[in-house]
Amino acid sequence: MNDNVIACAFKDEAACGECGLTNALGCRYSKRDFWFFTLNQIPLAIMALFSLVLMGLLAGFWWALIIYVLSALIFFGLGLETRILCSHCPYWTNDGRLLNCWAYPNTFKFWRYRPEPMNRIEKFILVLFFSFFAIFPVVMTSYGIWLVATLSSPIYLFALLGIIGTTIGTLLAGIQFFYVLQFHFCSRCVNFSCPFNRVSTDKIKTYLQKNTVMKKAFETKGYKAI
Ligand code: SF4
Ligand code: SF4
Repeated sequence: MNDNVIACAFKDEAACGECGLTNALGCRYSKRDFWFFTLNQIPLAIMALFSLVLMGLLAGFWWALIIYVLSALIFFGLGLETRILCSHCPYWTNDGRLLNCWAYPNTFKFWRYRPEPMNRIEKFILVLFFSFFAIFPVVMTSYGIWLVATLSSPIYLFALLGIIGTTIGTLLAGIQFFYVLQFHFCSRCVNFSCPFNRVSTDKIKTYLQKNTVMKKAFETKGYKAI
């Protein structure tokens, strides 16, 4: 990759010493961020899958689980997320075919780097999928509560308590996931055009001064980087 395109994240770390953004942004790979980001997803993933499996076992309602797993495979497994989100990210500029960021280390880079901001359709698809992954299991298991409540089996009370418990657990895990994501990651993330990004304008401008290809691409789309 052309040296001008490569983000400061992959250049000599000595330059970071004079940069006021060192602790303000997650602009360099950090093992701590990787582990925090990875562990933060586990409660929601486990609770969502557990709730949907429980619903299948108790109410014979398996299509919700199938839709959820297929959507995750399409969005994460087939590279839709990396196309609409990550291919705009400065972390995409490292030399080599593997991504080297704190969220997706060693993921294959299918797409070319696109320094311009995400467009409206990409933002819409991203918000749609992220909302779906958080809300769908809770909506489905809430429906499951109603389904189980109509059962006449003697174990119905235990089943009802179980599915109410997993619904509340999934809701709390979703809140925990988005809270940590927003306040620890989105507030420091260098993919500034992501609709969840919360980095302040002055930090964005300072970062763009150091990454001129990205700055030019943002300006071409109307962003005032000075
Ligand atoms: S913005 Fe770039 S130069 Fe500044 S601390 Fe981050 S990686 Fe280093
Ligand atoms: S948007 Fe996030 S997950 Fe994608 S490359 Fe950038 S830091 Fe990694």
